[in-house]
Amino acid sequence: MSMVCQACGVEAPTRKVQFHKHTGMLIMMQHGQFGGNLCKRCIGKYFTKFTGWTAVAGWWGMISFFITPCVLLWNTGLYLSTLGLPAPAPGAEPPRLTQEAVDKLEPYADRLFSALNSGKPHKQVADEIAALAGVTPVQVLLYVSAVVESSKDG
Ligand SMILES: [Zn+2]
Repeated sequence: MSMVCQACGVEAPTRKVQFHKHTGMLIMMQHGQFGGNLCKRCIGKYFTKFTGWTAVAGWWGMISFFITPCVLLWNTGLYLSTLGLPAPAPGAEPPRLTQEAVDKLEPYADRLFSALNSGKPHKQVADEIAALAGVTPVQVLLYVSAVVESSKDG
């Protein structure tokens, strides 16, 4: 099963996470969070960024002083819980609609669009057509949106 990271767009196993970032500013404070279904690379990236920021900038306020350790514990616990998640393939990049993929998909275009028009779930259609054409499901969806975009112009 292929999944797409909501942060970087690579097709890789993902995990739903939510990292927090806290900034203490004496009498004020600022709290930020970022999350979604993320790949291992992005989980590592946001964990490091948000936890590092909080460890330095979190403590500087009466209430912040108590919030900061909770944020650090939350982020760290969450990060540790994702250690078993397989990493994206080395050098994996967000899928692009290459000419090669378009050529492979064109013979299935009629079938693809009639399946979509029949109201079948897009994910299911994308998986089926991807298997037939030898492309990834995300490329099928990119192809659909490219065709829809070009028909809008015309
Ligand atoms: Zn990612």
